[in-house]
This record gives sequence, C-alpha cells and structure tokens, in this order.
Amino acid sequence: MRFASLGSGSAGNCMVVEQASTRLLLDCGFSVKETVARLAKLGLEADQLSGILVTHEHDDHAKGAFKLAERFNIPVWLSHGTRVMTARHLPKAPTLQLNTIDSHTTFSINDIQVTPYPVPHDAREPTQFIFTDGQYKLGVLTDAGGSTPHIEQTLNGCDALVLECNHDLSMLEQGPYSYSLKKRVGGHLGHLDNASAANLLAQLDNSKLKHLVAAHLSAKNNTAELAKQALSQVLRCSEDWVGIATQEDGFDWRDCAVESS
Ligand SMILES: [Zn+2]
Ligand SMILES: [Zn+2]
Repeated sequence: MRFASLGSGSAGNCMVVEQASTRLLLDCGFSVKETVARLAKLGLEADQLSGILVTHEHDDHAKGAFKLAERFNIPVWLSHGTRVMTARHLPKAPTLQLNTIDSHTTFSINDIQVTPYPVPHDAREPTQFIFTDGQYKLGVLTDAGGSTPHIEQTLNGCDALVLECNHDLSMLEQGPYSYSLKKRVGGHLGHLDNASAANLLAQLDNSKLKHLVAAHLSAKNNTAELAKQALSQVLRCSEDWVGIATQEDGFDWRDCAVESS
C-alpha cells in the first residue's frame, strides 16, 4: 500500500491511497481541473480512482469532491452529517453514487479496508480515517481540535501516519488572525497545534512507524521547521526524517512497507 498528497493546507487538501488497482482519494479541496493536474504529477488519471472519501464539509476538503465524482463516475463515501451539510453541492442528476458511513464501522473498498473515526472539529459529523491492506496500517488525522482516547486507540501502531500540525501556539497568538478566528482555530473544535500533535504522538505505539508526515500547516501561524522540531523530539529522530505535506505540492508517493529515508 502506498500513499501521496496532492496538497495540504487551508487552500485545499487531497490525498490518495493505493493498493493494487484500488485507488482512494481522501478529500478533494481543489477544483476538478486542479485535481486532474495534481493527479497527473503522481502519474494518475481521475478515471483510475475507485472512490472518494470526504472527511467533512469544509471547502478545503469537499469543494471539488462531488464534481470530480460526477465527472468521472466515482462513488463517494461520507458520514450522514457530512452528506447533509454538503447537500447544496450535490448535482441534480441522481447518477452520483453516495455511500453513507457509520463513523465507527469499518468497511472495504476493493483491496483497501477503511476504518472511520470521529474527531472534535467544528463540522456536523467530521470523520477521519485509517487504511489497511491487511498488512500495513496508514493513519490520517487532520482537522481535530484535540485528541481523545478513541483517537489514540485508533492511531496506535501505524506503519505510516499523516498528522495535523496546524499551528504553533505562540505564532497563532501573536499572528494576524482576528480574536474570534484565533479562538476558533485554537479551540477544542479547531485545529491541532504542534505541541498537541507531539503529545498525541507520544501516546502512541510507534514501533512500526516507517513514515511520519506533518500536514495541514497554516501558512501564517506555523513553519515546517517548528512542526518537524515538535514531532522529531518525540521520536528522537532527525528533523529531516519527518515529512511535510505542503500546500503547493503535497508529498510524493510513500510506500508503507519501506522505511522512509
Ligand atoms: Zn481543513
Ligand atoms: Zn475543517
């Protein structure tokens, strides 16, 4: 199983997870045109996608998902709450295949088993996901205002982990955001800061971890260096071993079976 990012941050998020001929898109916060162009950089075409998972209704995750799904006839999986909140984006034609998931129940899409889990975030029913091919486990967590025991249990023992490092607390405090936006981003239903991400990481069994990528970094309230610093201290690895999912390029393919160099 391998995975890559098409881009990550408040201007758009999208990942792809691949096992054999099964390719799942996780969120699609870019326009159809932009998504097709970014897929091409990874050597993929949209009609090779087996499904699209949508974590929640915010534009940076859902904006292009339904148009892409309709254009290329790709089924979509999402929680009931996300479905309700994205109803206005849904095409009038009833051809789109929408699958409502229970945010605690594992399901399979061809060769990939997907386990959703609920997270605290200011959306109706936000779910994040872990993926397995039966052998390797990939965990993804972004858009979470904090950790929970259930999150820690779910992310335990991953081979690969993509973890939100949205902001540095002091940069957010001193940064350009309005008081109310600072409250929102830094609040219980906002985004995970570097220190909280590091604390969460420290709670996990990381003995199998071969990839760690910091994601959803704020352009104004964080730097790649601060995120790398926070996470590498927990693992006692070099800062450069921690990857960064950038807004512009995401990150290139990573293989769950092969330790990142
Ligand atoms: Zn987001
Ligand atoms: Zn969000």
